[in-house]
Amino acid sequence: MAVTEKNKRVVWALSGARCAICKKPLVQKENEAGAYSFLGDVAHMHARRDGGPRAETSLSDDDRDHPDNLFLLCLDHHKIVDDHPETYTIEKLREFKDAHLLWVRGQLANGAPWNSDIYNFYYINLPRLLMLAEVLGCNIDDPRLFYIDDISGLAGGYIPFIHSVKPVIESVHPNVVALASLSLADVDVGLIAKFDQRFRTKGLGKVLTNGFSGFNGDLSKDPHIYTDCNGYKFVMPIDPRWLTTTTAGVHLSSGQGVFSGLCIVNSIDYAKKHVLCSPLLVGHPKRW
Ligand SMILES: [Zn+2]
Repeated sequence: MAVTEKNKRVVWALSGARCAICKKPLVQKENEAGAYSFLGDVAHMHARRDGGPRAETSLSDDDRDHPDNLFLLCLDHHKIVDDHPETYTIEKLREFKDAHLLWVRGQLANGAPWNSDIYNFYYINLPRLLMLAEVLGCNIDDPRLFYIDDISGLAGGYIPFIHSVKPVIESVHPNVVALASLSLADVDVGLIAKFDQRFRTKGLGKVLTNGFSGFNGDLSKDPHIYTDCNGYKFVMPIDPRWLTTTTAGVHLSSGQGVFSGLCIVNSIDYAKKHVLCSPLLVGHPKRW
């Protein structure tokens, strides 16, 4: 089996016809007569054949040729990654691919770079924030941040934590669109959006009293905040581990409030008209 023409077109389209590593444009006009050349390849992350670079024998042929296992590279990078699978591991390639798809989206989103305009942070989803910072190539000066798995009960307290995380927040400038101005044709998984609007809150108060045992996908129980935009309900689960302070918990369980922040779209349920997002940052908007 080879990669189908349809899957190749999917990969070219999603990649914006650019190499996932060097971003070189891969469709080039060769002459005045309008002859075009393709300067890239749809490349396999796990090899197509057993024994090839990064081969994974458990994958079926269909999985190997699925867009999830494919990405777009210039001819040079295709050769380099396949000649050096020990350097270009599957994890490394996934990072390149994820960063590239995010970059393409950012270019197309017609958004402005996001700047933190949050005055007071209620919620900081540290792992997602660090992941975004890494994808965007931001320096993370304080390596201790990677080892924090809960900020709600940090031994040192809120102030030292904010002191080390603030430079990360201030250096992260993804291209974003505003949730309120999104047309649904623009909403896609992986899109980063900023928000500054009224939300309803649900379920957090109970969790803060009774304890949290993880999300179970049931919105009647999972703590979350939600807001309506263009006929769709944007739902953002709130994991109590990433609440900054007790006061933050009060704000996010008070029934409603105006919140400002940044989220990433996780999934879209077109039938229910729900867009499930991971909030990266939620806070109190600056108003002056
Ligand atoms: Zn390249």
